[in-house]
Amino acid sequence: MRRPLVIANWKMHGSRSSVATLMAGLLERIDEARADIALCPGFVHLAQVVDACDGSAIAVGAQDCSHMHEGAYTGEVAPDMLVDIGCEWVLLGHSERRQYHDESDRLIAAKLAAAVEAGLQPVLCIGETQEQREDGEAFTVVARQLQGALAEQSSLAGLVIAYEPVWAIGTGLTASPEQAQEMHGYIRERLAEAGWVDAAEVRLLYGGSVKAANAASLFAQPDIDGALVGGASLDSAEFANIVAAA
Ligand code: 13P
Repeated sequence: MRRPLVIANWKMHGSRSSVATLMAGLLERIDEARADIALCPGFVHLAQVVDACDGSAIAVGAQDCSHMHEGAYTGEVAPDMLVDIGCEWVLLGHSERRQYHDESDRLIAAKLAAAVEAGLQPVLCIGETQEQREDGEAFTVVARQLQGALAEQSSLAGLVIAYEPVWAIGTGLTASPEQAQEMHGYIRERLAEAGWVDAAEVRLLYGGSVKAANAASLFAQPDIDGALVGGASLDSAEFANIVAAA
């Protein structure tokens, strides 16, 4: 049985003061027994969130990391630095990284290898654009992203995959539970065929306009093991209700 996992991606939002308020609300409202929970604030708020989560079952993750462990890489953050300050998770290959920072499958694969070596649990984000879906390429694109990131890894310990159709991110357009399940089922099949990991063990999260109102119907699908939540994770009551649906 796969334990539900709900991850908050705060993206580039927050200040020390808004993070303190959000954390107080979350700690008061979240039922930690329902699911594994991880919060991914911006880099500069990681230490603050790690401190705030101390003594709770809530874990902390980063939204990205370097593909290198150490050295002259100005502006980069090594996965080892994240482990050192108390992070357990890292998001990799988010569509906003692919879109605005030209991240390739090759770079994402290198980041994933570095993250696993450092001891982080990676959340590989994949998903097609609106145009690709309309052109009937959604499954091919997802298969290519999986292949590109996973095929040459020597270890995939703790791997989680988040399916986030780009057209559903921040748009209020959620994939229907059936549409999401169709892709999640496909992803699990591809993993099983390829044999890179034990497909039955890998948790597959759905992301894209998840809110309390649609979470339960998504979580009811057999291959949806949780959610990666953007906008709705910035509201402690809404996020707690999503967790409660898991
Ligand atoms: P929204 O929940 O705001 O659509 O964002 C989804 C996402 O990109 C999470 O990584």
